[in-house]
Amino acid sequence: MGKIRTVLGDIHTSSLGLTLPHEHVMCDFIGAKSVDRGRYDRREVVRTMLPYLLEIRQLGVTGFVDCTPAFIGRDPIVLAELSRAAGIHILTNTGLYKEPYLPEYAYKCSADELAAMWVAEIEEGVEDEIVRARTGRVERFPVKAGFVKIAVNHGPIEPVQEKIVRAAVRCSQLTGAAVVCHTGHPVAVLELLRVVKEERLEPDRLVVAHLDAVDDRSVHVEVLEWGAWASYDGISESTTERTLKLLELALAEGFEERVLLSQDAGWYNVGEPGGSRIRGYSYLVRDFVPLIKERWGESLAEKLLIRNPARAFEMK
Ligand SMILES: [Zn+2]
Repeated sequence: MGKIRTVLGDIHTSSLGLTLPHEHVMCDFIGAKSVDRGRYDRREVVRTMLPYLLEIRQLGVTGFVDCTPAFIGRDPIVLAELSRAAGIHILTNTGLYKEPYLPEYAYKCSADELAAMWVAEIEEGVEDEIVRARTGRVERFPVKAGFVKIAVNHGPIEPVQEKIVRAAVRCSQLTGAAVVCHTGHPVAVLELLRVVKEERLEPDRLVVAHLDAVDDRSVHVEVLEWGAWASYDGISESTTERTLKLLELALAEGFEERVLLSQDAGWYNVGEPGGSRIRGYSYLVRDFVPLIKERWGESLAEKLLIRNPARAFEMK
């Protein structure tokens, strides 16, 4: 039986349950140079975000994939406390995002050096990336990463992003962890596919995040035919019709085994009073899932919200 690496330790794949595979607890968009643990109070973040997690726990959610990368507010201690308090399995990540959220070392290290750092975050524990960027020292939290989160820039891929994609693939090949890549632009998706194919990533280890923001249908088909996960993760009241249409097309083409649904919602905004403008996580389960059940039946909803996330985030 496979396992999933959560912030509180490994669990059996079958224990993950109803899961939101792309959400955020906290973000700080001040940039890699200014990001700092002193910019927020862990207790306040936990106090603020716990009600949102309890709300989805009440709706039956037991799995939550936190996609906030290093240097944008990734805090494994906050996630572990919330996981305990809410009774939800939470996953955090290793990897690096894109400018202006990249530290100096992203440019200096080779793909293999980055991959080695990320393997250690999965196998030994997530390090305090801010400490590494400032001092070069490695300080680990007692929490392991369960997947790799990266990003590609919009347009032809920049050298540093290509290196990050290669590092992510190598980390995945050494650990079995999934790679979630922020895209949202057709050229970005195609560039990503080119690099991961060159690196011989197993298709089912790639989650193409924000694919629902891409209009070009041929790009969706290319992702799905190759065998990667299509992450339709921008679900909200205003995107419901659009997402249902995308889902309908994916189902008609026989790709129900490769679709993930989430909301990219949350989050405590570091630097703003009370972490203002937080979008809750309940819409998908409370309002969107009934629409799926109505149109396509209970078993499809179960596949999309329980079985698919478990298979995507299982350590292979
Ligand atoms: Zn996101």
